[in-house]
Amino acid sequence: MTSRVMVTGGAGFIGSHLIDLLVEAGNEVVIYDNFSSGRHEFVADNLKNPAVSLVKADLLDLKSLVVAMKGVDQVYHLAANPDIRLGTEVTDTDLKQGTVATYNVLEAMRLAGTKKIAFASSSVVYGEAAVMPTPEDYGPLFPISLYGASKLAGEALITSWVGTFGLQAWLFRFANIVGERGTHGVIFDFIHKLKADPARLEVLGDGHQAKSYMEVRDCARAMVHLVSSQNEAVNFFNLGSGDVCSVARIAEVVVEESGFPEVSIEYTGGSRGWAGDVAKASLAVEKLNATNFATNFDSEAAVRHTARALIQEIGLHEI
Ligand code: NAD
Repeated sequence: MTSRVMVTGGAGFIGSHLIDLLVEAGNEVVIYDNFSSGRHEFVADNLKNPAVSLVKADLLDLKSLVVAMKGVDQVYHLAANPDIRLGTEVTDTDLKQGTVATYNVLEAMRLAGTKKIAFASSSVVYGEAAVMPTPEDYGPLFPISLYGASKLAGEALITSWVGTFGLQAWLFRFANIVGERGTHGVIFDFIHKLKADPARLEVLGDGHQAKSYMEVRDCARAMVHLVSSQNEAVNFFNLGSGDVCSVARIAEVVVEESGFPEVSIEYTGGSRGWAGDVAKASLAVEKLNATNFATNFDSEAAVRHTARALIQEIGLHEI
């Protein structure tokens, strides 16, 4: 069944891939984005379709959000500050762009009578989990970054709206999502570093950090699949590819794909890349797989595919 769907953060990396799928399925789509990290070119083609509209506004502007929410059946709430490191410098970033923004989305939904919300949460809600791969029912949840705290607060606000105002929710705890149109993250950073200096690649930490990676179209497909197939009041899933890739291996893959002959990979040392970085994160994906879903890429294949795509997009070999 097609619906009128709002995607907050729809001009961003993951949001724009999700919109490709939602439009393909014949939905009406409202993109709500302030373009702080989103890009017009990511949605320009879809905006030629009369079923797609754009509201260029901030989620902190509740009035605009309430107006835009009219007639919307379902929200995919993806907008947030995507940079975990920023929280170490500007400490209210995630509180505003994560927690308060999510409150505004829910309040606008309550006022407009919109009942369904899917939320881009993150594996960082698990903090430094004692159990790996970490299943969805692991607890207690003690995030170690301000970004992680805002994701956990977002989940809690959403379930409170389910319990109090009768919403239905899909909470997605993403692995590291990588792929075409990536505008941040480790692969993106490595390619920019190589562009600045093709002889040397500095890696934050000791390279032993290891996390799950998921290709962005796999992620978008999983979200749409779970929303259409899972019907609890609160549906919560890890979205990942079931294995991990180390930062050292990512550096090697990026160097291999760059074609630069002699790159010295240098590690800054220490077990984590920055304060609040979860050095090891491995997501259990049995619950996702049991819904009859399979990814097209494992972690290393997703990393290699992304390195190839971003080397082109960033223009590594262009002066
Ligand atoms: P992104 O930065 O590309 O997308 C975020 C989008 O939200 C951007 O288009 C930005 O302009 C918009 N936005 C930000 N603040 C806004 C505001 N106040 N009002 C309106 N629009 C706003 O990042 P992404 O990687 O596509 O991430 C999407 C979501 O997935 C985020 O919630 C992120 O925390 C979550 N997530 C991403 C990853 C990952 O690896 N990329 C992992 C876990 C969770």
